[in-house]
Amino acid sequence: MLSLLLACSIPANPFGAATAPVATAETPPSSPGPSGTPSGAPASGPSVAATTRVYASLVSHNEEAPHPKCTPVVTDAGVYAQNRTVVAEMAREVVSHKAAWNLQSDWQFAEAVRQWDSASLKADTQGKNIIDFVANLDRSRVAVDAHAHETAYNYADVAAMLARLGAPDTGVVGGFIYHPSEHEVWTRLRGELTGSQDAAARWRPQILWGAATYMHQGPDLKLSGIWRPAHPDRFSEDDPSQSLVYVGSYMDGFVGVYDLLDRLKRGELEPGRMYTATVFVHQCDLTSSKVAATMAEVDKLAPEVEAGHLVWTPIGGMVQTWRELYNSAPLSYAPPADAMPPSRKPGAGAPGGARRSPAGGGGPKAPAQPELRAPRQGGGVPPKLAPGGAGAKKPGIKDEGARRPGG
Ligand SMILES: [Zn+2]
Repeated sequence: MLSLLLACSIPANPFGAATAPVATAETPPSSPGPSGTPSGAPASGPSVAATTRVYASLVSHNEEAPHPKCTPVVTDAGVYAQNRTVVAEMAREVVSHKAAWNLQSDWQFAEAVRQWDSASLKADTQGKNIIDFVANLDRSRVAVDAHAHETAYNYADVAAMLARLGAPDTGVVGGFIYHPSEHEVWTRLRGELTGSQDAAARWRPQILWGAATYMHQGPDLKLSGIWRPAHPDRFSEDDPSQSLVYVGSYMDGFVGVYDLLDRLKRGELEPGRMYTATVFVHQCDLTSSKVAATMAEVDKLAPEVEAGHLVWTPIGGMVQTWRELYNSAPLSYAPPADAMPPSRKPGAGAPGGARRSPAGGGGPKAPAQPELRAPRQGGGVPPKLAPGGAGAKKPGIKDEGARRPGG
């Protein structure tokens, strides 16, 4: 995919996400502190150690053509209309199941919306175009972010297109190259960007998500947590003076969410820290049955939400919570050696991969089964530090498998 995955940008509200109420973080359940926090300890206020929790969101991309799954969606009005219907369904389901979703869009889908969202299509979405509908349905649960490979339209262009369609600026860059450092693009995203197609477009990114590698020269970054990347060669280190905040995706699929929840309950996670995980769900081949399968996985996790271990919130809301409740305490957490490899997705009924055993907050969890253990894949280790075959040859998870020679 991407030869370049980058993120989006739009001016305006410095914290687009901050306009959205945070789903549940403000009213944390007084459940036993999972990892060292005294039971019932208040989890608000920077002077009080916040309760360690896992924050999660579903994330989707659409891609510019040529792309095996997305070309029909962005070049054929009929296929577009079908996809649009399912996207609206996904948004409604995410809200009704109390999950969270970041739909990250590149320019071509945005252009399709502009051209093809007719009055008859809009009749299905409160008279709004699909971007407007999704972005404003429930800002505490669903957000539209920019995603740009920047082949022709850069992040400022895409962010401006989404803004014109009615999406609030979330400040989130939905994918970018971080490795190898000579090809990284994120340091360029630290200031205000100007459109390459639309010279009037301006956008200032705030948040990075989806650190990928140039031409798949290594694994995408699989860290959990939120921090401010220090330097192209030390991306996983925090520098409080660096303005862009990174939100970690952790391991692929729902397995990453479960891995963190298991560790939380085993007391392996750091007290007072905010762990993050995102579950990637393709947009362009989304169907009603895939939406239903994803929601079934969300429902299995409801006891974890109830227990206060898991909070569904979009990426921008995670950063807001990190600042307000966790005092911007940095964390970059790599999957331990006994974590399930991302390639293993037992119970793969859901797009993001399911879990190895039934969900539920019940009794103690058995440790990961030996056959599910993987050799260390260089998980969170920057490829530069884990040269050679560590986790090599994985397709970019943020990119729906696009292949663009040379770029
Ligand atoms: Zn992409």
